[in-house]
Amino acid sequence: MTTAQSPVDLAVEPTPLALLLLGREADPKSERGVECPGDLPSPSDPDLVERARAAKEKLGDKVFVLGHHYQRDEVIQFADVTGDSFKLARDAAAKPEAEYIVFCGVHFMAESADILTTDDQKVVLPDLAAGCSMADMATAEQVAECWDVLTEAGIAEQVVPVSYMNSSADIKAFTGKHGGTICTSSNAKKALDWAFEQGEKVLFLPDQHLGRNTAVRDLGMSLDDCVVYNPHKPNGGLTVEELRAAKMILWRGHCSVHGRFSLDSVNDVRERIPGVNVLVHPECKHEVVAAADYVGSTEYIIKALEAAPAGSKWAIGTELNLVRRLANRFAPEGKEIVFLDKTVCFCSTMNRIDLPHLVWALESLAEGNLVNRIEVDKETESFAKLALERMLALP
Ligand code: SF4
Repeated sequence: MTTAQSPVDLAVEPTPLALLLLGREADPKSERGVECPGDLPSPSDPDLVERARAAKEKLGDKVFVLGHHYQRDEVIQFADVTGDSFKLARDAAAKPEAEYIVFCGVHFMAESADILTTDDQKVVLPDLAAGCSMADMATAEQVAECWDVLTEAGIAEQVVPVSYMNSSADIKAFTGKHGGTICTSSNAKKALDWAFEQGEKVLFLPDQHLGRNTAVRDLGMSLDDCVVYNPHKPNGGLTVEELRAAKMILWRGHCSVHGRFSLDSVNDVRERIPGVNVLVHPECKHEVVAAADYVGSTEYIIKALEAAPAGSKWAIGTELNLVRRLANRFAPEGKEIVFLDKTVCFCSTMNRIDLPHLVWALESLAEGNLVNRIEVDKETESFAKLALERMLALP
């Protein structure tokens, strides 16, 4: 049955949140998107590949295209270099002659590239709506409030913040200002070792799973040493006693992609594929990591598969674009690679960067129009850089 829509219904405006999710409007304080231009080429345009190639050729050495591992194949084919977010930011910094850095990734990655590159280099994110749900889970206001809670509990001076690379520039700056460091999924153990030399407790932002997995698996702590600070509850939902007793104060954030894998996914794949090796990213839940055979960053996953013997079988718990690409790459070598879960699990915000957006960004730059520039203000940049430099100085 259909019902006629009243004139009142038609007049209803989408809510601000709906606009943000649709990639319109602006929310400068979060990772969520801002205005999308209306002149994007159509996704069905058969000439998109040729147009991207022509625009890139016209720009020559002036442009350097970075492709995160989780990007679609249609975008990755135009990347000058691929990698995880930190590697890509460093690659961009090593190319000072490139005036335009087109970052095919998400917002916080483009911010990190802007922080690490020179003032003359301009970082462009082809779709400003490509944010990261995990980075969005810790805003500057929430983290400042948390610090007040720790101060009132009388423990702020013992706490060293450690923030995952997957955080906004504001959170990186907070970390730098309060004597902390940034970490990646590859060096989280070293970062925690360093932090516990500086203080007695760590505030780990924003991914609770990476923090917990590193503390328990790599540092030998118990789950009871960790508490979860929920920014949506008064005092983080914790008592003063709980905060004082904890060694790891984990921010209640997670990756919506890696958080989907469950113990059932692991048990199920072991049943379906006898002898399978389960290899997962440390952003997965603790019970998934505990049940896996191997755990590591995307770079670790790629290296493990490169080194795997022919005939071996692998179930991978990370983003689907990467898993599919690796499965295709290693199939001729007789390595069987499957996705850990039965249901598809793309990073939806990463997938916002598609060929039409890339073509639009490249053609605009080739015509002399700087679009979708990501620029971190100087004060934020200087404190964020401090935190990043502490990471680079880790042994
Ligand atoms: S995979 Fe997870 S952490 Fe990475 S960009 Fe997507 S939501 Fe953020």
